[in-house]
Amino acid sequence: MKYDYLIVGSGLFGSIIAYEMTKIGKKCLVIEKRDHIGGNVYTENVENINVHKYGAHIFHTNNREVWEYINQFADFNRYTNSPVANYKGELYNLPFNMNTFYQMWGVRTPDEARAKIDEQKSQYHIENPQNLEEQAISLIGKDIYEKLIKGYTEKQWGRACRDLPAFIIKRLPVRYTFDNNYFNDMYQGIPIGGYTRIIEKMLEGIEVKLNTDFFDDREKWLEMADKIIFTGMIDQYFDYCYGELEYRGLDFEFETLDMENYQGNAVINYTDAETPFTRIIEHKHFEGSDSPKTIITREYPKTWSKGEEAYYPMNDDVNSELFKKYQELAEKEGNVIFGGRLGMYQYFDMWQVIDEALKLARKLD
Ligand code: FAD
Ligand code: UDP
Repeated sequence: MKYDYLIVGSGLFGSIIAYEMTKIGKKCLVIEKRDHIGGNVYTENVENINVHKYGAHIFHTNNREVWEYINQFADFNRYTNSPVANYKGELYNLPFNMNTFYQMWGVRTPDEARAKIDEQKSQYHIENPQNLEEQAISLIGKDIYEKLIKGYTEKQWGRACRDLPAFIIKRLPVRYTFDNNYFNDMYQGIPIGGYTRIIEKMLEGIEVKLNTDFFDDREKWLEMADKIIFTGMIDQYFDYCYGELEYRGLDFEFETLDMENYQGNAVINYTDAETPFTRIIEHKHFEGSDSPKTIITREYPKTWSKGEEAYYPMNDDVNSELFKKYQELAEKEGNVIFGGRLGMYQYFDMWQVIDEALKLARKLD
């Protein structure tokens, strides 16, 4: 064996394992099918602006260990995510808070807001929400559901809200204070200089082969190392023997504009059903930039098909059951360990990926 570890994928998960194993003296090889490292956190400096090439990435966590860990690799600024929703030209603050309630109904106090939401909820008699629609209505009532959730969510996931799991909407806070911070976490920010630098530091001195797909020569790669950390799609690894897991795809449309400030905020969500994209990101607002130009990205969700980048696992009941079957196979696989958003088929944020990678690194030798 030439290497102690073969790591398939240079995203956050694979790069942390490579860094931690190298630190304890193991010889690692990282292979990556894309032409760059970093997976979906990859950023690129264009026009003096750090562009998030795979959609807005805002770091947030409540986990102090994770926060301290990632701070070894970068300084973070004090960016606080406060997206704005545009519903047919009407603007609302997100997440759902007193500003949103005032904009929606003109209510000025928490009691007035609660009364309005309770009145809207009471018409539906939902005791135990069974799907995203019921969950959303029972959290914030019908008006907000219809204007700020339904259209966006159905575009994002390509399914009716009644057919989606409730947990997706529980990611968003509902607050009876005038607070537009999208996250409840203690720590939040954007790494100054972009995410790619973090990954470069993790992979410093480690052999990385870009443009190299594990499946083009899996037998060769499996023989290369004692242990394999696989961060690609778990169903693909097992040749889809139980059928395909579902993912959601995305197209990113980039535009460089000859103006200083296009939309005045990093993230604006388009929550109606007709606009084909879900959000527009204006990258310079994450870190600030004195560029006279600006770069924006429109995000278009789409049906995923084999061969395309799989951006979101669909963690509904059917897919979670199917994943469990693959997980049973994975447990028998001996020297191959599955990690990350695709290997573990979980809608993980970055902090969860770091947490999982560190848990695994502690077990490896
Ligand atoms: P990935 O980044 O997917 O890395 C896997 C790597 O493996 C990729 O580089 C891939 O090319 C490579 N690979 C796959 N198969 C093979 C193969 N067969 N051979 C070789 N290489 C292979 N998280 C947050 O905390 N905050 C946010 O604001 C946020 N926003 C997001 C926005 C979008 C649009 C998306 C899609 C995700 C967002 N996330 C966010 C989640 C974040 O991107 C993930 O948690 C994190 O990047 C996952 O890291 P990973 O290493 O598990 O996977
Ligand atoms: N969501 C919504 N309206 C919005 C923003 C989000 O209905 O304006 C819902 C949507 O279902 C989305 C979920 O909340 O999938 C989680 O949103 P988040 O911003 O966390 O999504 P991500 O950044 O992971 O795409």
